[in-house]
Amino acid sequence: MTLSIRKKKEGFGHHEDWIATTWSPVTGCTKCSAACVHCYALDRIIPWQLRLKKQKYRNGGRVTLHPGTLDEPRHKRKGKDIFVCSMSDLFHEKVPTSFIKKVFKVMNECPQHNFRLITKRSERMAEIATDLIWTPNIWAGVTIEHPDYLHRADELRKVPASVLFIYCEPLLGSLKRLNLKGISTIVVGGESGPEAREMKKKWVLELRDKCREKGTALFFKQWGDSPLSGPEDRNNQKQDKGGCLLDGEEYKERLVFNSATGRAEFKA
Ligand code: SF4
Repeated sequence: MTLSIRKKKEGFGHHEDWIATTWSPVTGCTKCSAACVHCYALDRIIPWQLRLKKQKYRNGGRVTLHPGTLDEPRHKRKGKDIFVCSMSDLFHEKVPTSFIKKVFKVMNECPQHNFRLITKRSERMAEIATDLIWTPNIWAGVTIEHPDYLHRADELRKVPASVLFIYCEPLLGSLKRLNLKGISTIVVGGESGPEAREMKKKWVLELRDKCREKGTALFFKQWGDSPLSGPEDRNNQKQDKGGCLLDGEEYKERLVFNSATGRAEFKA
């Protein structure tokens, strides 16, 4: 499979340019990892929705199931890339397996969409993976932001999804020991927000070189808001906070789902 580097920015006009839309059958979470310290969902979006008195967010950050939203993907005929549970973690210990199975049933019955699951509870995902049906339109991912969480890649490899991916955002340490075996794509980014933590250029270069060596697609999202992160490459692009050039090049290698074939393809 040949990888290509996109030279031009092509965002979706959404906060997340790797995934086009979201579906939240669960909201609320608890912090469990270094990446959670400035959780965008718990610290910003959910309190804001609560202030707006949105019924869906009446429980604030408490884990809440929304069975009424389960059918939402069925109403979208046109295929979308859907980030599942952007306001929670589907594999949170308070989400019953019976409910996770309902979420999977909807995903299994909507082959037009590409569902992307990202969890920090990789142990639970691996533990119940064989009780779930992984149709090719469901991609599984874990967050690995620091070497303390390298074990998540091993747990991810136990999941029989057609595409396995890793989110290294916010990148908070060197992942030079990360094993990319079986991993199709990684997303790398620095932290956003007023208290953004540093992402060293060295850590990003280590991941880039590892991806080149293993043939893994690299989507380098942004340097983030910390002034300490990669200052020589800042180019002030609006959507990519702090810019997204790495030694003068953009790495926006995008894996896309072809709903006609059910396969993932690299897109230039
Ligand atoms: S797992 Fe995700 S949603 Fe939950 S607290 Fe951490 S960053 Fe937030």
